[in-house]
Amino acid sequence: KLYNQVQDLKGSIRVYCRVRPFLSERSSYVSTVEHIEDGNITISTPSKYGKGCKSFTFNKVFGQSVTQAEVFSDMQPLIRSVLDGYNVCIFAYGQTGSGKTYTMVGPKDLTEKNQGVNYRALGDLFVLAEKRKDNFRYDVAVQMIEIYNEQVRDLLVIDGSNKRYPSVHLILFLTSNTLEIHNSSQTGLNVPDASLMPVSSTSDVIDLMNLGQRNRAVGATALNDRSSRSHSCLTVHVQGKDLTSGTILRGCMHLVDLAGSERVNKSEVTGGRLKEAQHINKSLSALGDVIASLAQKNTHVPYRNSKLTQLLQDSLGGQAKTLMFVHISPEPDALAETISTLKFAERVA
Ligand code: ADP
Ligand code: MG
Repeated sequence: KLYNQVQDLKGSIRVYCRVRPFLSERSSYVSTVEHIEDGNITISTPSKYGKGCKSFTFNKVFGQSVTQAEVFSDMQPLIRSVLDGYNVCIFAYGQTGSGKTYTMVGPKDLTEKNQGVNYRALGDLFVLAEKRKDNFRYDVAVQMIEIYNEQVRDLLVIDGSNKRYPSVHLILFLTSNTLEIHNSSQTGLNVPDASLMPVSSTSDVIDLMNLGQRNRAVGATALNDRSSRSHSCLTVHVQGKDLTSGTILRGCMHLVDLAGSERVNKSEVTGGRLKEAQHINKSLSALGDVIASLAQKNTHVPYRNSKLTQLLQDSLGGQAKTLMFVHISPEPDALAETISTLKFAERVA
């Protein structure tokens, strides 16, 4: 294998933590993050009994000033292992506003410098595939789906005006577009009805990500940003053919931007919002249960308890490599959610 450095990750679960910087309007706050050193993070927890602290240990902790490029370069060996036929799952966890989308996609004013993991991962796979082209032929295709209220929807649905990907069926996005999850080890496609788009360049990826983001915004009102209450998943399928032996290797990678993990106060929301909150709660705890039982090497892993864990099943456990990437906000008013996020992560670290 070309990437020996990932061998020690085989079958393992890693946990990273990232602290986002203060947003400009809140810069007068004092950070709740007291200290970061190697994989340790210490949070100050003021209380009426005086100042206290809590420490947590993960595989890696990224402070406020760490760049997108630095975060990516740390994940690069893991991502590259997809070309060797491994399945990979990277998911961003944290309360709304903690920087999940920033890590996975980037900020709204996207530039090459602040691009997130999704763009960099695909760009890197293309570069590496090109480097290996004398020995391997790689085909890369992506799917992008959203899970909202335990329903799976295709985000790469196009309207008739988009001629770039003519092979895709035209489905009106707002009509019933709910997909089934199968566990198909044969094709490697566990959502066979979601559009599967071949990609061969960074500009293909940018087009598709834009389409996906646009579709994700449909159905959301300004007041009601749905992206924080649905899970979105970019799945990268790679098929590599060894040109000498003819052997085919298949790898897939799920890059997941999870719904906000904040606990919703039941007395404050009702109806649709309460249902959403219950679905999110259920799926995030199902994910926590799966990861925890894998970490404890339990024989029974409860994948069936949510759509999210069913979707990710092929990339969690077995030979797959999993990276749980938790995000926290530095503001004092986020302290309770910060502690609850770090505790969620600590359960498996
Ligand atoms: P989430 O997806 O968890 O709800 P976002 O990624 O949307 O959070 O981040 C909230 C805000 O903070 C956005 O304006 C985003 O651009 C900004 N932000 C998040 N992380 C960083 C970071 N590491 N550096 C600079 N800005 C960030
Ligand atoms: Mg987000």
